Parts: sequence; structure tokens; C-alpha cells
Amino acid sequence: MASLLHVAVGVAAGRLWAGRPSWRAALAWSALSMLPDADVLAFVVGIPYAAPFGHRGASHSLAFALACGLAVGLVGRRARLGALVAAVVASHPLLDALTDGGLGVALLWPLSDQRVFAPWRPIPVAPIGAGFLSVRGLRVALAELLPSLPLLVFGLWPSRPGRVGRGQKK
Ligand SMILES: [Zn+2]
Repeated sequence: MASLLHVAVGVAAGRLWAGRPSWRAALAWSALSMLPDADVLAFVVGIPYAAPFGHRGASHSLAFALACGLAVGLVGRRARLGALVAAVVASHPLLDALTDGGLGVALLWPLSDQRVFAPWRPIPVAPIGAGFLSVRGLRVALAELLPSLPLLVFGLWPSRPGRVGRGQKK
């Protein structure tokens, strides 16, 4: 997990979608960006980490991201929304593949169960759950802050006066 970077992607996606800084959009898109990590529930129900549906397994595949985008795009009949959903969900395993711990991500599931990493892994892996609220968790958050800054600035920078965002009325 690269937590702060996932949130930063969500904040930037919220800005892209809303057309202006929006805390509601930032929260919603950040939750979507973190969605693949819902697979930590696998630990609770006893699914092993390395299993296809274990942590960083199927939910960390490009197929899962594509399925999320297709579902949202088809149900909502909005291709642009579906494409953004797919891109945000796909960003999660791609960022996780840049971390230095864990088993890697099942990027090509269901074609392959193999867990993969990027050739360059500059992001320290974040502790899972309450372990994130530790000295190690703080160190990881600080290491992720620098690469997150451009996304956070883009997502939170105030709109120019008079500019109307999506869903706003003049
Ligand atoms: Zn993850």
C-alpha cells in the first residue's frame, strides 16, 4: 500500500471530475483509489496473502480496474466517468508495484496469478491497518509526501473566480 499517493490520486481525480476543488469529490475519488485495498478483508476470513483473492491479488489487477470502469460507465451511461474510474482504480496496483515490500501485485490476473513489481521500487511499503499509526507509518507518509505534492496541489488549488465547475450553476 502506498496510502498517501492513493489519496493524492483521488484528490486530483476529484478535481478533474468536478472541475474545481471539492472536498466531497476528493473524498469519493480517494475512496475509489483505495478500493483495491478492500482485499485486506481476506486476512479476516483466512484467505492467504499469496492466494489469487488474497491481498494484492485479483483486486489489484488491470482487469478489476477495467471491470470497475465498465460497470460505472455502463450503469451511469457516461463513458468519460467510466474511463476516469478505470484509470483511478488502475493507478492503485501500478503505485503498489513501486513499493519495496509485500508480494507484488497480480496485475495480469486472471491471465496470470504471478505477483509482480516494477523494476524500480522507490516507495517504502506502508504498514497495514493500525500499524500505519506508528513511527514507521509516519516515515512512509513523509516519503510519499514529496511525490504526492503535485497531485495534491492540482487537486486543491483554488479555481479562478468566475469559473464554474461541474454541477455548479452560474
Ligand atoms: Zn494495494
